[in-house]
Amino acid sequence: MMNFTPKQSPLILGIESSCDETAAAVIRGRELLSDEIASSAATQAKFGGVVPEIASRAHAEAVDEVVARALRNAGVKKEELDAVAVTYGAGLLGALLVGLSFAKGFSYGLGIPLIGVDHIRGHLAAAYLEDASLEPPFLTLLASGGHTAILYTERADAFRVLGGTLDDAVGEAFDKVARVLSLPYPGGPHVEALAREGRAVVPMPKMLKSRGGYDFSYSGLKTAVINYVHTKEQKGEAWSRADVAASFQSAALDILVQKTVEGARETGAKMVTAGGGVVANGYLRERLAAVCKETGLRLVLPAKKHCTDNAAMIAAEGLVQYRLGRFSPLTINAEASIPLVRG
Ligand code: AMP
Ligand code: MG
Repeated sequence: MMNFTPKQSPLILGIESSCDETAAAVIRGRELLSDEIASSAATQAKFGGVVPEIASRAHAEAVDEVVARALRNAGVKKEELDAVAVTYGAGLLGALLVGLSFAKGFSYGLGIPLIGVDHIRGHLAAAYLEDASLEPPFLTLLASGGHTAILYTERADAFRVLGGTLDDAVGEAFDKVARVLSLPYPGGPHVEALAREGRAVVPMPKMLKSRGGYDFSYSGLKTAVINYVHTKEQKGEAWSRADVAASFQSAALDILVQKTVEGARETGAKMVTAGGGVVANGYLRERLAAVCKETGLRLVLPAKKHCTDNAAMIAAEGLVQYRLGRFSPLTINAEASIPLVRG
């Protein structure tokens, strides 16, 4: 194994390739030096979703250049790096393998530690980049295309899930509703834009399941939107796409805001963070800010570009693991799914 002397502010290269973005970023401690991204989203949009084979090929074509750009824009030579952090899961296997293999080559060639990062922990770590003084304990709202959960991070290496979705993730619900409203993929930003022109006047079902105080279900909400639209069309009645978007958006997001604040009250956390693609939503950001202000909670929201997939958050989680001295063997494999909390 390599000689390892931990540094206070290590230079860490982060690489992310779990879905359709090839991303690389360099941090020094919590300072972000560069943040690069190449996306195959435009190609994927033609298919209404992510085609794994297209994603893998696009990563293979882009990864070299994106990493080179990240180093160049950071003003860093690869020999100066202290560690390389890379997403090893969850995600599309072929896509993950491109970034992971590339990172292994870097780690082996330079004799620096490899840090395999769980993508979801990356979303949680994005807030660290926003506020250099942020430390646990804090409560996090995780809202992405694959996950919706409220988590309590007690220490850097320990978090627990208070509750979450029992079926669809909130981002998935946004994407499905976007389809019903004939909006392009990925639907979240388009639903948000349309909702701005409408009013939340269409009745929506309750989201909360009684099993646990924090468990929600998005499949009923999605079905209600589909039924509403189909019924209106069948009867030939006029209906407003913008009102449906606004009604869905507030039903889907208000519950998350409410439960986040309740989670903070229950755990006694004074600080709230958030992560995941849906946290790029302006309505959600405004509601969280307003409610945290009213209840005296400190809110640290990652920049919008660090809510959707990016490599800066992977480097940030890499720093957490680096400080804990947790490194990965070169034999680490890509994983299509990783449980939210490993038991
Ligand atoms: P992630 O799984 O974290 O990569 O996030 C992707 C998900 O975030 C997709 O389901 C998107 O539709 C959703 N998303 C991105 N931007 C927004 C937005 N502005 N409003 C709502 N959802 C969004
Ligand atoms: Mg993601």
